[in-house]
Amino acid sequence: MDKLLKNIIRECYPYIQNGKVATYIPELAKANPNEFGICTISIDQGTNGVGDYEKSFTMQSIVKAIILLRALEDKGEAEVRNLVGVEATGKPFDAFNYSDQDLKSEHINPMINAGAIALCTLIDGETYREKFQRLLDLTRKLAGNSNINLDEDVYMSEKATGNKNRALTYMLKAYGIINEDAEEVLDCYFRACSIKVTCVDLARIAFILANKGENPITGEQLFDKKHATYINAVLMTCGMYDGSGEFAITVGVPAKSGVCGGIMAVVPNRMGIGIYSPALDSKGNSCAGIKALEILSRELELSIF
Ligand code: GLU
Repeated sequence: MDKLLKNIIRECYPYIQNGKVATYIPELAKANPNEFGICTISIDQGTNGVGDYEKSFTMQSIVKAIILLRALEDKGEAEVRNLVGVEATGKPFDAFNYSDQDLKSEHINPMINAGAIALCTLIDGETYREKFQRLLDLTRKLAGNSNINLDEDVYMSEKATGNKNRALTYMLKAYGIINEDAEEVLDCYFRACSIKVTCVDLARIAFILANKGENPITGEQLFDKKHATYINAVLMTCGMYDGSGEFAITVGVPAKSGVCGGIMAVVPNRMGIGIYSPALDSKGNSCAGIKALEILSRELELSIF
């Protein structure tokens, strides 16, 4: 496995040049585009990491999978589904060009900003700091890593500049989808996006999702099995921004990417994968990361289709 991953890094390295690191959150512009790491975890092969797989980066949109899980665990499927739909929008993650007919709960999904921000309101907790803490605790539990923490610089940077997300949140409020204090909800969302992980953490979380909420090594069931089915289905249709359909054809597994350049891929019943390479394509997906997953999927026949 190590040899395969090393070859993939070598083969995909040139694809870094096709992308650019995200700059709309000023702190993310400091990322080194040449960093590239992969980690895989499976029962038969254990943990394999190559390249910059221990380098940490912020989760950004990848945390949307955890926000969805937290909301499902706290409020159940019916309430989650009632607030945020599950259909792909075909729009960029931060689109706010909704028409009057458009902005209904069923026209957003948990993997776009509007949907994830709305779902923060369903997390249990008296205050938004408490809600965020529950989200952070769940991330630590899934990754089996109690050291996971917030990147304060990225959090402050996004809080200071995230006016598109601010506009989206006030729009959700204007349309009655959420009724809470917009700045409090946003603060929870910005903190969530700034949780710092490595490829190993992402691979571990994906491995749990791949095994329907169970850690197959310890046998511990970490969350309700049916919630893994829900999340993996949404990741499959909406997880790779408006490139999800193409990704379903070329890679064929549930996955979530983030503007940090991370990708978390879930191979049902088989494997968890974490990738980091911050140069992004025009849709916001890691250029080298997508290519690496294409090759890995082809070599190991990972596609579920
Ligand atoms: N924090 C980022 C934002 O809301 C996350 C976007 C992403 O990774 O897609 O703009």
